[in-house]
Amino acid sequence: MSEHTRWLNLIRPDIPDMEPYTPIVPFEVLSERLGRRPEEIVKLDANENPYGPSPLVRERLASFPHYHIYPDPQQEQLRAALAEYVGVPAAHILPGHGADELIDLICRVFLRPGDAIINAPPTFGMYEFDAVINMGRVIHVFRDEHFRVDVDAIAHAVQQEQDNEGQVKIIFLTSPNNPDGSLLSEDDLNALLDLPVIVVVDEAYIEFAGRPSLASRVLDHDNLIVLRTFSKWAGIAGLRLGYGIFPGWLMPHLWRFKQPYNVNVAATVAGLAALEDRAYYERTTAALIRERERLYRELARFPFLQPYPSHANFVLARVTGRDAWELKQWLEGQGILVRYFRKPGLENCIRVSAGKPEHTDALLAALEVYAHDT
Ligand code: PMP
Repeated sequence: MSEHTRWLNLIRPDIPDMEPYTPIVPFEVLSERLGRRPEEIVKLDANENPYGPSPLVRERLASFPHYHIYPDPQQEQLRAALAEYVGVPAAHILPGHGADELIDLICRVFLRPGDAIINAPPTFGMYEFDAVINMGRVIHVFRDEHFRVDVDAIAHAVQQEQDNEGQVKIIFLTSPNNPDGSLLSEDDLNALLDLPVIVVVDEAYIEFAGRPSLASRVLDHDNLIVLRTFSKWAGIAGLRLGYGIFPGWLMPHLWRFKQPYNVNVAATVAGLAALEDRAYYERTTAALIRERERLYRELARFPFLQPYPSHANFVLARVTGRDAWELKQWLEGQGILVRYFRKPGLENCIRVSAGKPEHTDALLAALEVYAHDT
């Protein structure tokens, strides 16, 4: 036995076989690779907010005097401000290092090795990722061709697990869904809440949806959790700040499990300032919604693109008669980044984030060239 194997044997046996996470290419590396300055790159691949943090947020971050002090583990000030923003008492709110951290926390609190979650692909990848790193099993119940959740198949999967002496603990749903931007219907939500499982609704994009969050519904349902984030509407994805709205009975258990200093001071300062600067963010959110609608209309004019209506800050488009990977690569050569998918249910698709009007202009001009020259 080599030295190496001896130590390798100490790690959890499921880890060496795991699919590694595909990290994004850092902006500076990309800029070098494309031979373009960062400001020349039109980055429409990760649903980031191109307007970034408001001037007030930047000012508060620059002048904050106490970065040498650890954060408040209870996040009292932020939770009070969030309570007002969300309309739910602070006792139900737990901030996290991005919504991503809370997905992991939920998996850690509920899953024993072998317990199952239900994932509804095509959707955001982190539910599966976090369930697997927490030794959970993932049951995939695919959405239909309009990305609608298959409630009957989910109910069946929950029952089947019970019949086989297994247990589905959590269903993860995204509304608006990433990558298509569709909403979970009221009827579907109600049917899922009747199942004997925890229903997590991830509302990362709700500020773009033009309808209220489900946050206050948590007060009436002991098995509903709603996740939200500052990454999209507040333009601080790089600072990492999300939060969950949880039923009261669950909160003491989450407090036991969470890392005391999970939310850093800069994220807290920025989050508080963003919540104060609503007027700025209403303007940038409205601008992104306008751009999403324009993208949807304009992409539909290209015969090789079939966009889907979206309630988020991105538009998914199916590519027909051409190769989506080739299109993505070609756009990258022009300094325009879009997301490409090749997963089941997302064959030959690209997803384009809503950017500033000039970003849409650049994309549309490039697509015109692509349509004629290739
Ligand atoms: N949920 C969904 C549906 C997302 O698309 C994303 C980001 N891509 C997140 C959560 C992650 O949010 P955060 O940046 O707060 O971790």
